[in-house]
Amino acid sequence: MKITIGHLYPDLLNLYGDRGNIQCMMKRCQWRGIEAETLEFKLEDEVDFSKLDIVLLGGGSDREQMIVCKRLQQIQKNFKDYVEDGGVVIAVCGGYQLLGDYYQTDEGRMEGLHLVKLHTEQKPGRLISNIVLKSDLFDMPVVGFENHGGRTDIGDNQPFGKVLYGSGNNGESGYEGIVYKHVIGTYLHGPLLPKNPQVCDWLIEKALERKYGEEIKLQPLDDQEEKEANAYIVNRFVK
Ligand code: GLN
Repeated sequence: MKITIGHLYPDLLNLYGDRGNIQCMMKRCQWRGIEAETLEFKLEDEVDFSKLDIVLLGGGSDREQMIVCKRLQQIQKNFKDYVEDGGVVIAVCGGYQLLGDYYQTDEGRMEGLHLVKLHTEQKPGRLISNIVLKSDLFDMPVVGFENHGGRTDIGDNQPFGKVLYGSGNNGESGYEGIVYKHVIGTYLHGPLLPKNPQVCDWLIEKALERKYGEEIKLQPLDDQEEKEANAYIVNRFVK
């Protein structure tokens, strides 16, 4: 078996080293004897979504998001078809905001991809914190770090998780991120997948199931260290 990961615009959307999330997906495939390759796309490159099993859209500053959002309009239709067909997407922070209808900043409005029904508005003050979530997708809590000025409203969509500690989508709803089909959008950046192997494996599993048309049960790996680190964070922050 083989999966191909598409990394969209890593030269612009790579805040807090989203490449580490790519390495984690590659490694957890290879450890199981699943072949994995990553294709990096620059702004001017054509993206052939039919060749991709997982797409990563990383975080970026408002300035970089503004550059990327213009190009995203041109690939919107193909991207949308991919998502509706069950294509796997992991979108982090700036990339998460761009999945939605728009991101309104003090400087202007960025048109989003309209892949999921959400919108984001910049408000004074940034939401910066460690964060812990309970997601319906996993038993183990999801841990991470958030740093965003945008506040996201996901309407009636399924959130990625309930906030046990931290701010989440807007500091008010009590929820973080979004799940739509096989798309996860989240404010948790930096080493999201290395810290949360359960999230990484969910993405790999869904990608393989879509590609090979059968139910996939990934071979378990030794995640003892990740589990201990996770328990440490949860005990430290969740009262
Ligand atoms: N520019 C966005 C914000 O501040 C996203 C930042 C990020 O990707 N960390 O809300």
